[in-house]
Amino acid sequence: MIDFAVIGSGISGATISNKLNKKYSVKVFEKAKGVGGRSSFKRFKDNIGFDHGLQYLSPRSREFKSFTNKLIRKRVIKHWKGNHEFLNERVKRDKKHIKLIGVRGNNDISKHLLKGINCKYQSELSEIQRKKDYWILSFKDNTYTYAKNLIITAPFPQVKKLASRFVKTKLFRNKVKMNSSLTVLLMTNKTGSNVSSFFTNDNILGWISNENSKKRFKYNKDLWVLQSTYEYGKKHTDNYRNKKKFYTNVLISKFKNLTKIKIKKIYFTHIHGWKYSSNSIPLKTLSYWDKKIGLGICADWFGGPRLENGWLSANDLYNKIK
Ligand SMILES: Cc1cc2nc3c(=O)[nH]c(=O)nc-3n(C[C@H](O)[C@H](O)[C@H](O)COP(=O)(O)OP(=O)(O)OC[C@H]3O[C@@H](n4cnc5c(N)ncnc54)[C@H](O)[C@@H]3O)c2cc1C
Repeated sequence: MIDFAVIGSGISGATISNKLNKKYSVKVFEKAKGVGGRSSFKRFKDNIGFDHGLQYLSPRSREFKSFTNKLIRKRVIKHWKGNHEFLNERVKRDKKHIKLIGVRGNNDISKHLLKGINCKYQSELSEIQRKKDYWILSFKDNTYTYAKNLIITAPFPQVKKLASRFVKTKLFRNKVKMNSSLTVLLMTNKTGSNVSSFFTNDNILGWISNENSKKRFKYNKDLWVLQSTYEYGKKHTDNYRNKKKFYTNVLISKFKNLTKIKIKKIYFTHIHGWKYSSNSIPLKTLSYWDKKIGLGICADWFGGPRLENGWLSANDLYNKIK
């Protein structure tokens, strides 16, 4: 029987697995086809693709800065230099800090941390049961696994659904409201734009990224990521599936109007609704650990809206387990 089953391969799952794996047997279960969770990279072909969720890292804490510096030296991540434009002066004051990205894609950190660790993809945990001193984990595909300890790293509403009956503290009494966002991936003709990203002042389209500016690939077409504001995401993420073309067009026409970039041809679009994008209001604790039943929870939403909060949460949980 494995010592630790870890649910999720995002930064929180990858970080805690990497640490535990030095001492214990660990297996990661991930419901998606690939690694990285909300920092996934959507590959178009070969090494060409889009950062689908997380856009960049901007480390704030001393510990995370030191971690990212190590990853820069190991060539896992790099600086995203270039021309980052701010159409919103208030945002400009807040956001003018360094931007780090994965060398190949923003899921590179999870990939790096999970090297050599047993991971099973397309494996969605649907139910958990605690026996005397072990867990029985049931998955959507009717398989199950036994584990001595269980760590869950999913967004707040999903962990609550799976584990609330086993959690004795007030954790799930917190009202964690996760922001939503619509993202359009767009491939156009070469536009000649020298802008790497735009923070806008619009109430529908909040952020535009020029994927070619990340210098991961050379391609004869431009790749763009358009992200809605949380305000727009909150209103439309639940029903975008019925009107994908409509929402795609709304974001693309905003893109054209705001940037004045000349688009002659669109080759590819893809729209995705991130229902649980991030939580902006930190909780009083950074992670949850119940040694008696071997249940741990770590995720970004304990600490805030950024990947760094997931990393800090996983480190906090590891210190509790230790
Ligand atoms: C559109 C968008 C833009 C963002 N931009 C930025 C940014 O620029 N900078 C920044 O710092 N942060 C950004 N973030 C936030 C950042 O992506 C997250 O803080 C971080 O990726 C969270 O990592 P995590 O490991 O805690 O959660 P996740 O990455 O969500 O990992 C949880 C994993 O668990 C898996 N899972 C869930 N339930 C189950 C189950 N039942 N069974 C098996 N697997 C399961 C999920 O598939 C997922 O892979 C952005 C997020 C989004 C969505």
